Amino acid sequence: MDEIMEKHRLLLDKIADADMVLVGIGEEFNEDFSDIGRFPHLMSALEEVDINQLLEWTVPFLEHRFLIEHNDGRLVEAYQSLYEMIRDKNYFVITTCIDGNIRKAAFDTERLVEPCGNHEMLQCSEKCCNELYSAGDFSDLVKQAILDGVGLDSLEIPRCPNCGKPLAYNNILCEQNYVEDGYQEQWKNYTKWLQTTLNRKICVLELGVELNLPNIIRWPFEKVAFYNQKASFFRINASLYQMTEELSDKGISVGMNAVDYLREYGHL
Ligand SMILES: [Zn+2]
Repeated sequence: MDEIMEKHRLLLDKIADADMVLVGIGEEFNEDFSDIGRFPHLMSALEEVDINQLLEWTVPFLEHRFLIEHNDGRLVEAYQSLYEMIRDKNYFVITTCIDGNIRKAAFDTERLVEPCGNHEMLQCSEKCCNELYSAGDFSDLVKQAILDGVGLDSLEIPRCPNCGKPLAYNNILCEQNYVEDGYQEQWKNYTKWLQTTLNRKICVLELGVELNLPNIIRWPFEKVAFYNQKASFFRINASLYQMTEELSDKGISVGMNAVDYLREYGHL
């Protein structure tokens, strides 16, 4: 039995034995759009943008179409494996990904928080207000424009009803203008859930989390594992898998890309 397989068996035992399972998903799961070539209508729309730079604004909306239509591939496989591993447990998942791919597996969205936002809602790109608008209707218009052959130039940029500036997806790509209201309610549920972990057997599983936003998953997870006497902690990451000294007695490191790990071992 190889070393990673041994650690995986240990992880499965810890999950089975745990009262609660806390999962963090990070940078290794970010969508890289490498499969977009499989969608000819999206490729020809992107070519249209190449020719006419006035259509540059449509690129995020075309990427959103890709996220909606691309329902297979390595990320979805990895999420499905993870779901099978924890589906019957009292779990909570926190992710810094904004692509929403995690929603393609059957995770309970009441047990999921996406503090960096996603592509479900639109907001004012200038943040003149904190209002959020469903992204679905405009996405349908984009779909029509590229499938019916009327072309992207038939579309008009969606604008903020309050100030007239363009709308943007409600996620961290808005940088300092990011409207954080979108995830706040779920964040409260997450915080409440975390408060109930003290003195319970918790399995903490950190998957592909790097150091771009360490205060969202990496540091808080280390703290949860450190202060909980009954915690086990698994860190799976291709390059940043080292365990801090404080956690060396209850932490397990796996030096492997977490997406590949779940695809290779998750279904066993
Ligand atoms: Zn506005």
